[in-house]
Amino acid sequence: MATITGPIDVSALRARLDRASAAAQQAGVDALLISPGSDLRYLIGAGGDSFERLTCLALPVGGTPTLVVPKLEQPGYAGIPTDELGVEVVTWVDGEDPYALVKAAIKGDRTAVADMMPALHTINLGKAIGGPQSLAGPIIRELRMRKDASEIAALRKAGQAIDRVHARMGEFLRVGRTEREVAKDIAAAIVEEGHTVADFVIVGSGPNGASPHHRDSDRVIEAGEVVVIDIGGPVAEGYNSDSTRTYVMGEPKHDDVWDTYAVLQAAQQAAVEAVRPGVTCEQVDEVARKVITDAGFGEYFVHRTGHGIGLDVHEEPYIVSGNALPLEAGMAFSVEPGIYLPGRWGARIEDIVVATEDGVESFNNRPHELVVL
Ligand code: ZN
Ligand code: ZN
Ligand code: ZN
Repeated sequence: MATITGPIDVSALRARLDRASAAAQQAGVDALLISPGSDLRYLIGAGGDSFERLTCLALPVGGTPTLVVPKLEQPGYAGIPTDELGVEVVTWVDGEDPYALVKAAIKGDRTAVADMMPALHTINLGKAIGGPQSLAGPIIRELRMRKDASEIAALRKAGQAIDRVHARMGEFLRVGRTEREVAKDIAAAIVEEGHTVADFVIVGSGPNGASPHHRDSDRVIEAGEVVVIDIGGPVAEGYNSDSTRTYVMGEPKHDDVWDTYAVLQAAQQAAVEAVRPGVTCEQVDEVARKVITDAGFGEYFVHRTGHGIGLDVHEEPYIVSGNALPLEAGMAFSVEPGIYLPGRWGARIEDIVVATEDGVESFNNRPHELVVL
């Protein structure tokens, strides 16, 4: 069932549909085919997932957008202002061929399908329509990575909500508890502080902190250990938070913690300060990487500096070597360098920021120092 969350601004969505159609034309395709997921949510405000029964927005260049939806799923889309958006709704029942309905809704046979469309639907649409298929992602992301004022407001709200969870970390993160116990409490706090759900909770204590995508475990947190806490989730508007702070349980038991952490903090701060329109994504990565490499820790910073964020936690633009895309006002992304010392400890600092007309705004504003609990 589709879910409608947050206010729907009809004129903003209409403009997105028009821009998507224009971008599709420029890309040389006849229609975009968008299944439920963040692209559909971006275009018409409908949440929800894909199932074995096809739901698909067909967005033909120069034609009427058509939402093909199973009759039994239709109530979930009742809150979508399809009339005002100029979207025709075509329902189907079991036994009918939904792929033929999509074919009938478009002209031409060159289609671009949503990146996350299930193969079941992609292949059956390809058989029904016949022409060349490509990915819609490169077309839609040109729109999605430039956030408008309402999207920025939602990301700011998400940032403030996750900051409130970090501010409460002393309630949850204590010596003698397991990572899993701590993670469970943090997940509850993520919801209490204004998210609809806790999308992810990373509690990486001691050597687990040296594994950037560790989640949690039954490991008991001990005195003197460094703990990486990386948490986030969506607010009602669908936009996500994602923030990391690093904590230490009293005086650190390794004697290299303070000096190494100071390098990381300097790297993260320098990278945030480098953000402004015209600076490229890879330049921001390079600023963080240079500070860490110059201090001798380059081999321990094992991932890109950041990722775009919006309706998806990870989306364009990626802040990575090789991405020469110049930043523009409205591009929102993480700045999250880390230093990971295998078998010992790790640290990461992560803020979500947005490029503004004349610089940068950070949506996360908790202190960046190593927090002693
Ligand atoms: Zn990640
Ligand atoms: Zn994160
Ligand atoms: Zn992140």
